[in-house]
Amino acid sequence: ARSDRDMEQVSGAEVIAQALKTQHVEYMFGVVGIPVIEIAVAAQKMGIRYVGMRNEQAACYAASAIGYLTGRPGVCLVVSGPGLIHALGGMANANMNCWPVVVIGGSSERSQETMGAFQEFPQAVRSSIYGRPGACYVDIPADFVNLEVNVNSIKFMERCLPPPVSMAETSAVCAAASVIRNAKKPLLIIGKGAAYAHAEEHLRRLVEQCKLPFLPTPMGKGVIPDNHPNCVAAARSRALQFADVIVLFGARLNWILHFGLPPRYQPDVKFIQVDICAEELGNNVKPAVTLLGDINAVTKQELASQKSLPMNYYTVFYHVQEQLPRDCFVVSEGANTMDIGRTVLQNYLPRHRLDAGTFGTMGVGLGFAIAAAVMAKDRSPGQRVICVEGDSAFGFSGMEVETICRYNLPIILLVVNNNGIYQGFDADSWEEMLKSGDATAVAPPACLLPNSHYEQVMTAFGGKGYFVQTPEELRKSLSESLADTTKPSLINIMIEPQATRKPQDFHWLTRSNM
Ligand code: ADP
Ligand code: MG
Repeated sequence: ARSDRDMEQVSGAEVIAQALKTQHVEYMFGVVGIPVIEIAVAAQKMGIRYVGMRNEQAACYAASAIGYLTGRPGVCLVVSGPGLIHALGGMANANMNCWPVVVIGGSSERSQETMGAFQEFPQAVRSSIYGRPGACYVDIPADFVNLEVNVNSIKFMERCLPPPVSMAETSAVCAAASVIRNAKKPLLIIGKGAAYAHAEEHLRRLVEQCKLPFLPTPMGKGVIPDNHPNCVAAARSRALQFADVIVLFGARLNWILHFGLPPRYQPDVKFIQVDICAEELGNNVKPAVTLLGDINAVTKQELASQKSLPMNYYTVFYHVQEQLPRDCFVVSEGANTMDIGRTVLQNYLPRHRLDAGTFGTMGVGLGFAIAAAVMAKDRSPGQRVICVEGDSAFGFSGMEVETICRYNLPIILLVVNNNGIYQGFDADSWEEMLKSGDATAVAPPACLLPNSHYEQVMTAFGGKGYFVQTPEELRKSLSESLADTTKPSLINIMIEPQATRKPQDFHWLTRSNM
C-alpha cells in the first residue's frame, strides 16, 4: 500500500524554496511577477524572509549586502527580461565588491528535458561564496515553477560547507615577516575583504604585537576600531605617501587607493598583498611578497612567524628599557648596540652614561662598569650598573669578568649577540660556508663564531649566566638579575645576525618592540 507521503506532490516553487532553505539561505529580496511570485510565497512558507522591493536593482543591492554581512548569499528574486536587466546593476556591484549573491530569475516555459536546472541551486550558492565571493544567476523556466512532481522524486543537495580556508605558502609568510620587521615606516591597509573574512581578532593582535600603524579603507572601518591608537586614518595621505612597506589585507590597489602609484606613494614602496584571489595579486604594482589565502588564516600564520623570529636591537632595548631603574649607570659599547641603545635607553641623571666616547674606543666598557660599581658600593649602595655590550665589544675586555667576580660587583652585563662585528652569520650559513673552504679563506672578516656562549665566561667565575633567545627569556633573566643585588650576571642575548638599525622617525607612531 502506498503511504500518503508517496502520493504527495510538490511544486517547482516549493522545491526551489526547500533547496534554498537547505543551503541555509535566510533572506530573499525581490520584485515579483509572473512566473516567480509562487517562489516568493513558497520561500516565505519555508521560513525564508521575503522583502518586496520597488526595483530589482535595490533588491539586488540588499541581497548582496546580506551576503557580505552574513557570509551566506541573499537571494534576489526577479522576473526575466526587464527584471533581470534591472538586477544587473546590483550583480555588477556585488561582483566588484566581491560579495556573494544569488539572483534567481524566471524565464518563459520550456520543455521538461532541462529539469536538471534544479540541481543548479547548490552549485549557485557554493560558487557565490567559494574563492572570491561574487554574484551568480539561476534561471528558472516558468513551467518549472508550477510543475508538480512527487516528493520522493526530489533529492536536495546537502548544504554546501563554508568555503574551505586556504593558507599562504610558508616561505611567503616568512618573507613577509622579514620585510615588515625591517620596515622603517610600515603601514597596514585593512579592506572590506578583511571584514568579510572576520579577521578582526587576529589583525588587532598583529597591529598591537608588532606596533604597526593601520589605515582602514571606507568599508574596512571598524575591523579594528577607528579610535585605536594605531589608527592613522586622520593622516591618510601622509601615511600612504611616506610608508616604505604597505601590507594590504583584503583591499585592492584600485582608484580608492590611487592604484598604488606615485605621487601618492613612494616610488619604491614595498607592497605585501594578502588576498584570496590570485588574479588580484600583482595588479598595478609589482608586489614584494604575495600571500594567497584567507585573510584570517594568513594573519594567524603571520602572527606565529613574528613570534618565532629572532629578536632585533629594538626588541631587546625596548624590553631592557622597561625594567631599568631610573638611577642606574648605563655603560655601553659596540657599533649598532651602542648607537641604537643610546636612542632607546633613557638616562635621567648626569654622569650616569659611559660609552666608547670621543675616541670611539672598544674595550672600555668593563673597566668603566667596574669603576662605577666600585664607586656605587661606597657612595650609593644598591645603585645598579648595567653594561650593554656588543658581542665584538665584549671580546676586547671579557676577561675583566674575572675581576668583577673577584670583587663581587653586582654588575649586569648584557651582551647583544649578533655573531659578528656589525653583522654576522647564523649557524646554518656558517656551516654552509665552511663547506666551501677553510675559514681563513672564506669567512667574512666581520663574522664571529655563531651562538658563542659568552654567558659561560660569567659562570666560569661563579656569577650568573643566561642564554636568551626570546623577549620572555630576556624579561625574566633581567628581572632576576636586577632582583639579585649580591651577584654579577651576564645575559647573552641572541638577536638576528643580520639585524640593522633603522631610524625611529615615524612621524605618526613610534614602533619600538617588534
Ligand atoms: P576595499 O574597497 O576595502 O579596498 P576591495 O573590495 O578593494 O576592498 O578588496 C577586497 C579584497 O578582499 C578582494 O580582492 C577579495 O578578493 C578579497 N577577499 C574577500 N574575502 C577574502 C578572504 N576571506 N580572504 C582573503 N581575501 C579576501
Ligand atoms: Mg580597495
